[in-house]
Amino acid sequence: MVTAEINNQPINCYDNKYDRDTLKKWADKGILQCPVCHGKYEYCHGKLVSPFFRHKDKTKCETIYSEPETEEHIQGKIALFNWIKKQNGVVKAVMEGYIEETKQRPDIMFEFGGQQYVIEFQCTPIASEQIERHELYQAAKINDIWIGGKEKYSTGRTHIENIAYAMFDYQNNTLSKVKDLLNKNLLPYNNLLLWNFNEIPLENVMFDGKFTFVNQTMEKYIDLSIKKHNAELKKQEQRRHIHSLVEVCKVIPEWYAQVCHHCKIDILEGKLSSPYLIMMKFASDITAPFTMFIKENSIDVCVTEMYNRRIKNNSTHCRKCYWQKATKFVKIETLKYSDNQQLVSVIKEYFSKQLQKAVINKYMGGITNG
Ligand SMILES: [Zn+2]
Ligand SMILES: [Zn+2]
Ligand SMILES: [Zn+2]
Repeated sequence: MVTAEINNQPINCYDNKYDRDTLKKWADKGILQCPVCHGKYEYCHGKLVSPFFRHKDKTKCETIYSEPETEEHIQGKIALFNWIKKQNGVVKAVMEGYIEETKQRPDIMFEFGGQQYVIEFQCTPIASEQIERHELYQAAKINDIWIGGKEKYSTGRTHIENIAYAMFDYQNNTLSKVKDLLNKNLLPYNNLLLWNFNEIPLENVMFDGKFTFVNQTMEKYIDLSIKKHNAELKKQEQRRHIHSLVEVCKVIPEWYAQVCHHCKIDILEGKLSSPYLIMMKFASDITAPFTMFIKENSIDVCVTEMYNRRIKNNSTHCRKCYWQKATKFVKIETLKYSDNQQLVSVIKEYFSKQLQKAVINKYMGGITNG
């Protein structure tokens, strides 16, 4: 806890109104009290974690739940509190206030539009406790907004990440994975995915019953999302293009299946990052194997070549280099084509010519001219 009472007056240990020595002195005198049970608080101030208060004896306190203080929990709730209390329409914002009906001290409570809200900043992954607390809030008709601490939980699989309205990074003061961050009706695409709506500075977000973008900052994120959206559409288009080319090329192995010479043609789709669309491997019992890399309007015909690759030995015992046999593609010809139909005929023409040449070589001893 970062709030306490002295003589029924609320104080806190984060706004520097009282220095550490004063708070320490008061704690030693036993006059720092829990606002709920009025039991004595001790003042914890280490080197690594910001100061906080803790019950000397918690057994008599009615607050059932309290999250252990960590630097993330302390700094996060202070940042979220400072943010929420300056939002338009937010009134009676209190940190660590007590809600009698639920016997809980939410990190932050406030009212908005005549309704009671709480923000719980959750940095520990205790699922059962969160569910109980949520049910208590629901029963008391309190809108509970759970914000997860991003420091330890960013796997996308923990309970808090599943239920959290958003994840908060207290070191960068940013929100991520915010649910309903903006009114989707305002978006130019209704299927726009919201990729960029992560790591949003807290000052770019406002509260109007839910978290929404501050109007002036919204455009930037929408623009970023549209850019990514368009890039994704382009990728999908490219994938469709590759698939359709593969479909077109499938007639080639079917056609050569009717020819003798055990022709084997493999068609491999290129990746989006590949410098080609399709890779086709050609083999038969009389031709040397070769590979075609089909690009937009051109085809690189390649053969594989063995070469010696120098391998550096990084072990500490032996710094010598050694050579390893490896293969590489060497381009022997470039073919041109203008459309899908021409692509098929150009490929067939090339392979058929190779087969013919091989037959002539085999049966006529390589004498082709007379
Ligand atoms: Zn207490
Ligand atoms: Zn909390
Ligand atoms: Zn044959």
